[in-house]
Amino acid sequence: MKAIVADYVLDVNGLKKDVAVLIEGDIIVNIISSKNIGEFDVDEVYGGKGYLLIPGLANAHTHVAMNRFRGFGDDMPLDKWLNDVIWPMEKEWNEEEIYKWALIGIAEAIANGSTTINDHYFFAWQIAKAAKKLGVRAFIGQTMMDLVDMPIADPKLGFKFFEKWKDKDSLINATLAPHATDTVSKDLLMETKELAEKKEALIHMHVSQSREEVLRVKEREGLSPVEYLKNTGTLKANFIGVHGIYLSKEEVKLYAKSNATLVHCPVSLAKLEGYVGPILDIWKLGGKIALGNDCAVSNNSMDMILEMKFAAILNKVKNNNPIMPTAKDVFYWATLGGAKALNLKAGLIENGYLADLVLINTRKLHFLPRENMLSHLVYSAKGSDVEKVFVGGELIYDNGKFLKTDELRKILDIE
Ligand SMILES: [Zn+2]
Repeated sequence: MKAIVADYVLDVNGLKKDVAVLIEGDIIVNIISSKNIGEFDVDEVYGGKGYLLIPGLANAHTHVAMNRFRGFGDDMPLDKWLNDVIWPMEKEWNEEEIYKWALIGIAEAIANGSTTINDHYFFAWQIAKAAKKLGVRAFIGQTMMDLVDMPIADPKLGFKFFEKWKDKDSLINATLAPHATDTVSKDLLMETKELAEKKEALIHMHVSQSREEVLRVKEREGLSPVEYLKNTGTLKANFIGVHGIYLSKEEVKLYAKSNATLVHCPVSLAKLEGYVGPILDIWKLGGKIALGNDCAVSNNSMDMILEMKFAAILNKVKNNNPIMPTAKDVFYWATLGGAKALNLKAGLIENGYLADLVLINTRKLHFLPRENMLSHLVYSAKGSDVEKVFVGGELIYDNGKFLKTDELRKILDIE
């Protein structure tokens, strides 16, 4: 049995002090006072004084390989960014490069405290290979488009990847990933929905991420994007929509009532659209919210700790309201919110939950006075405070080292 010892153990249900979390296989089996550890059959101990243990963060929407394009096309409108910068570069991708950059993107996510990623991209099989190499928990969908000329987004590839990877691996989970409401036809959306129902799969899709998308869907379907999704029967518990920034009041209500999750990517959409969506309105009505970084081109980091701070601050500004969202709200979105969206028994530090855990070193000036750990985590911490990352009880990252592969050392030219 493994034990992780920490001065502070924090999840959305609260804080425990001087605790040891016991792990058998990939599951948390007991939470005890750290002074009683000698009474249990423990053969590996991690952590100790000065540590904060939190559930691993779930990056519920990302495109890890896009780390390749970091720094390209900053400070441009979204449509121009996609059409003039991103899509032309994406047409040049080859398998080897995708694998290498997926490895880099996932490694950066892990090093900043993510134990789960939900990726949406091309050459998904290479992203699965990179995820497997590093040991992260990964939900991966091959991007499908049929209304844009992009051979690497041919829907056939998406269905093929899904069939090959669905339920084949304990850490890699295949999803269905139609690109967005304006780039995918109704026929393809319906085909995806029916397959998802049959195979109990998740659908991961961009929704209302630009004004142009809303106009195109209205013109084509006579409905706004969320109404259209609702009408097709797509908007339900297995649906993970992303962004949803241009929603009418009616769409906010529809979304909140639907049981579908909306993934909020505050930094990315503030940077690409200069806008924050009605996330807080959906949340207040009882809707399901998770958090994502989107990608290192539009973000420009993979740091989900920083993302929590931006989520809190940008929504306070959007609503001219300093009270909501609270630190606890955004911590929920980044942990339990993501886990619920992905049907994972994770995001809490409780018996029976997956041992996807992150140890943070609080022996830093910005953690003083160590009197409100939730506040310190959301408003003061940064990804670089993460010291150890466990996925399914296995230590996969330790102080800058990725323990399951040395490929990163070669890429970064470390001896
Ligand atoms: Zn995206």
